[in-house]
Amino acid sequence: MNKINKSRVLFKEAQKHMPGGVNSPVRAFKNINGNPVFFKKALGPYVFDVDNNKYIDYIGSWGPMIMGHSHPKIIKAITKQLQLGTSYGAPTSIESETAKLIKECFPSIQKIRMVNSGTEATMSAVRLARGYTKRNKIIKFDGCYHGHVDSLLIKAGSGVSTFGLPDSPGIPNELAKKTLSCEFNNENEFLKVFNKVKNDLAAVIVEPIAGNMGFVPGNKSFLKLLRKKTSENKSLLIFDEVMTGFRVSLGGAQEIYGIKPDLTTLGKIIGAGLPVGAFGGKKNIMDYLAPNGPVYQAGTLSGNPLAMAAGATLISLLIKSNPYKSLELKAKTLLDKMKEIFEEYEIPISTNQIGGMFGFFFSDALPENLNDVMKTNDIHFKNFLNACMNNGIYFAPSKFEAGFISTKHTNTEINNTIRTIKAILKEGI
Ligand SMILES: *Cc1c(COP(=O)(O)O)cnc(C)c1O
Repeated sequence: MNKINKSRVLFKEAQKHMPGGVNSPVRAFKNINGNPVFFKKALGPYVFDVDNNKYIDYIGSWGPMIMGHSHPKIIKAITKQLQLGTSYGAPTSIESETAKLIKECFPSIQKIRMVNSGTEATMSAVRLARGYTKRNKIIKFDGCYHGHVDSLLIKAGSGVSTFGLPDSPGIPNELAKKTLSCEFNNENEFLKVFNKVKNDLAAVIVEPIAGNMGFVPGNKSFLKLLRKKTSENKSLLIFDEVMTGFRVSLGGAQEIYGIKPDLTTLGKIIGAGLPVGAFGGKKNIMDYLAPNGPVYQAGTLSGNPLAMAAGATLISLLIKSNPYKSLELKAKTLLDKMKEIFEEYEIPISTNQIGGMFGFFFSDALPENLNDVMKTNDIHFKNFLNACMNNGIYFAPSKFEAGFISTKHTNTEINNTIRTIKAILKEGI
């Protein structure tokens, strides 16, 4: 059983200075009524907290650590750039290098713009879509998270024809009304809403493989329908691949489904742990951005040389090793064994994985949408997650998050995880 005394003290201190003691809400562990742990270092598949507890890390900074923490080649690339300066606010050759590597993997991207976070990428993509199409409305899907962008922090509620209500105070109703949210994987509901708003529909934005309501892949026919309808209507299809880009396969979810979106948003992995986002797509659409076009978008630190150096190195390593089949196999081995153990104790669990991303739910069948995810067992989740934290297994502390595995997770880590889970269930959750 881990002792986290120092983390408790640090959390009390942090609460004096930052709302909730954190700079991003999920870190406060409210979803599992836990106490957040404070980390001090990370190596390979492990993170270490301030009380010197060691955890097998199945979050990997929410994706970027796909080749493990503190990868020597990435550290080397950052260190080399560090000697040359941390930021110039001016062009560098590393930006084109990174862009070329991304385009090599994502044929739908002809031009790309770097930004500093996933939120910035989706915010800018939506503005570009509105500017380019000269239309205002956006369709998104319940449970898909696209960063905390005003226009995207919206859920439609239960009625299909209800206009969007903001998920957060501070978003004007007038703006929220321009966004409609439909049930994920529900073709009929999408068609109804689409037909209602198509004349003013700028874009449809979707996580093709959702990772922000747990791990819920889109159905192929559903995603194909989005492509068909948006093309017919001259609305843009935006794939938000901030999480799935370079995570489920080299070419993201769009490669797996064989669907080309008009715009793609990226983040997480492409910065290798430094703050980066990007959005890209068809040349004629991207050239509608300033300074070529009228849609304004800018960033003092965009294309930051440290971040580009780290990202380009990681993407090169991924292109060279193409680890996705082996990552998926490892995730499957872990989840299959987990399932066996839970079944022994007659606790229903459903699991799924693609590439280096995975999910488990306390439910008989795999969820297809946010409503299904909400119905999965909360008590089992909370108890299991807290027990895992106490025993050195770091899974995402919310059932609305996905799991991530790295190339540095070996049979040793997987077997140790399984052994720990067996012991946890023996004690009871
Ligand atoms: C993480 C994420 C974002 C937001 O990225 P930030 O860097 O946290 O702003 C947007 N979309 C998806 C799909 C994400 O997973």
